[in-house]
Amino acid sequence: MKAIVIGSGIGGMASAVRLASLGFETEVFEQNSFYGGKINSKNIGPYRFDRGPSIFTEPHLVDELLSIVKASDIDFDYHKLPNSCCYFFEDGKRIKLPTGTEAVAACLSEELGEDQKNVEKLLRRFELNYKAVYPVFIKASLHRIMQWLNRKVFKAITRIPFYGLFSSMNTVNRQSFKNPKTTQIFNRFATYNGSNPFKSPGMFNIIAHLELNVGPYMPKGGMVAISDAVYQKALELGVRFHFNKRVEKILYSSGRVEGIETSTNKIVCDLVTSNMDVHFTYDKLLPGLKGPVKILNQEKSTSAVVFYWGIQKTFDNLDVHNIFFSNTYESEFDHLFNKQTLIDDPTIYVHISSKVEKNDAPDGCENWFVMVNAPIDAGQDWVSQKQRLRKNILNKLKRLLKVDIEPLIGEEENVDPVMIEQMYSGKNGSIYGNASNTMMSSFYRHPNFSSKIKGLYFAGVTVHPGGGIPLALSSAAIVEKCVRRDFSIS
Ligand SMILES: Cc1cc2nc3c(=O)[nH]c(=O)nc-3n(C[C@H](O)[C@H](O)[C@H](O)COP(=O)(O)OP(=O)(O)OC[C@H]3O[C@@H](n4cnc5c(N)ncnc54)[C@H](O)[C@@H]3O)c2cc1C
Repeated sequence: MKAIVIGSGIGGMASAVRLASLGFETEVFEQNSFYGGKINSKNIGPYRFDRGPSIFTEPHLVDELLSIVKASDIDFDYHKLPNSCCYFFEDGKRIKLPTGTEAVAACLSEELGEDQKNVEKLLRRFELNYKAVYPVFIKASLHRIMQWLNRKVFKAITRIPFYGLFSSMNTVNRQSFKNPKTTQIFNRFATYNGSNPFKSPGMFNIIAHLELNVGPYMPKGGMVAISDAVYQKALELGVRFHFNKRVEKILYSSGRVEGIETSTNKIVCDLVTSNMDVHFTYDKLLPGLKGPVKILNQEKSTSAVVFYWGIQKTFDNLDVHNIFFSNTYESEFDHLFNKQTLIDDPTIYVHISSKVEKNDAPDGCENWFVMVNAPIDAGQDWVSQKQRLRKNILNKLKRLLKVDIEPLIGEEENVDPVMIEQMYSGKNGSIYGNASNTMMSSFYRHPNFSSKIKGLYFAGVTVHPGGGIPLALSSAAIVEKCVRRDFSIS
């Protein structure tokens, strides 16, 4: 039996590993010249940058993938970072937030006057919520009826009063904390799947559990080490990769997949998994098939503008992950989702991998990945938007760091929503597919299988269970479960 995977993002490569482990002869077709999708790396002058993701949680999911069939010798090492993030506010307040429930609560009590016991209680609630929803919403397909007939679902239902399902994250957090700065810190986790904390249900506070109770990790060699390791595992299991090969059509007849078509070939197979943005999978690869309109037309998650700056200085007051908060946070999300433009005082994320990966920058220098959440592309003039944004970022950093950054920039490149769409085929540059801005958003993510075409599956952040590396890995695990059932593989 032959399987084809469209796209070598982390969701595609994880699916390929799993399909190969089931005995499928597996081939991956990738439009770019490199594997890993958004988890790729670029050298700019003497600096190395991870171009996409920088926050890594749940590393055991990668370990689990690497140990499929047999433990392999693939070198994948990582360590937990002592701090989750360093936060800067416009009034000059700076908080270096550690990880671990007690340490986070103690820090927020000392720095922001929160009741330590209350913070601990909330963080533990987020952990229990996460553990209750994980087996039901994250590890399994929401869209198969058998999924709903088990004890874990019952347990998840009993916790509904604790999720904050019927209020926004902002409402839940505002009612939970004394200091608006704490609320802002917790609201920020909505952006981890490209959503709006003023609309996204309080349920998504479970993301805070992973970063604050547990903590973020850093792979040795940077984020690209995740792609490298999974690619090696796929090769180990005999997966064949075809680079610079864009898939142009999924072939099917009588409701069953027959293969794919590229610009040069038709390849016959028994199973196709698409790691391409699900919107484009329907629009471009299945033009004759009516897609699930309601799912595909949901509001999209945010995109990003990223500046990659080689900085000729080191900053002792910065950490691996740093946030310079907007002073007008609610308005920032109004700009992102409604006005579809960039605000003049945006929240700025600065990631510096060279703080722990010393080879990523020359001595005395740092590699700054400077990211601002951006609206999806709606035809904005990105050249002028980026020029204004760059100026606003530099002004804000100068205000808060008391250093003029511009003369320190030795190397520079950037990426915007149009480039994100072109590089990875993400609809309008959206990073996570549909936004999670409503209570029902989890149910409006596309299932990991097609109900119209047998043998067609979907993996990656634009389908169930959602955005981020851990969820892309989970989507591949769910594809495996569906394939096992559909192909009667025990
Ligand atoms: C700037 C930025 C920052 C981010 N930060 C984080 C973070 O800190 N933590 C986190 O967990 N996540 C983050 N993300 C999101 C993260 O990138 C995703 O979670 C994950 O990498 C997406 O994996 P994927 O497999 O769904 O898709 P992708 O990585 O998008 O892979 C899809 C692949 O399919 C290929 N493809 C598409 N169409 C075709 C076709 N027709 N034929 C052949 N190939 C095709 C594309 O070229 C691409 O390689 C970030 C993303 C960006 C852009």
